[in-house]
Amino acid sequence: MAGDCIFCKIGKGEMKGDIVDRDAQVFVLRDIHPQAPVHLLVMPFKHIASIADVGEADAPVVTRMVLMANKVAAREGIAQRGYRLAVNCRDEGGQTVGHLHMHVLGGRQLTGHLG
Ligand code: AMP
Ligand code: ZN
Repeated sequence: MAGDCIFCKIGKGEMKGDIVDRDAQVFVLRDIHPQAPVHLLVMPFKHIASIADVGEADAPVVTRMVLMANKVAAREGIAQRGYRLAVNCRDEGGQTVGHLHMHVLGGRQLTGHLG
């Protein structure tokens, strides 16, 4: 874990966070500044700084993230209408928290723009 990483701290229960689901490898946090009616963050318990830092050994955890994202999207009632999974990477990719996370956005018509 990176010592000052807020998502590591939330994953360890050292900081408050609205965790809505978890398995052995990943957990789901409700975003504190939601950009859509449903805005969740799926991330590994393991500290991985960004999607660019995913190594071969992390392939299972990335798969778990996608499966968990699909599961919570279904539970939130947005699976049929559609949703967006987004991963921002490093500074110019718009990443503001340096712990890999996948946004699950839905519940309204999202625009077609990618930035
Ligand atoms: P990104 O800009 O892709 O790095 O996304 C970071 C996201 O984390 C933003 O949508 C923030 O609103 C969200 N966020 C930051 N701190 C917290 C927190 N303590 N609990 C829940 N979400 C957070
Ligand atoms: Zn971390």
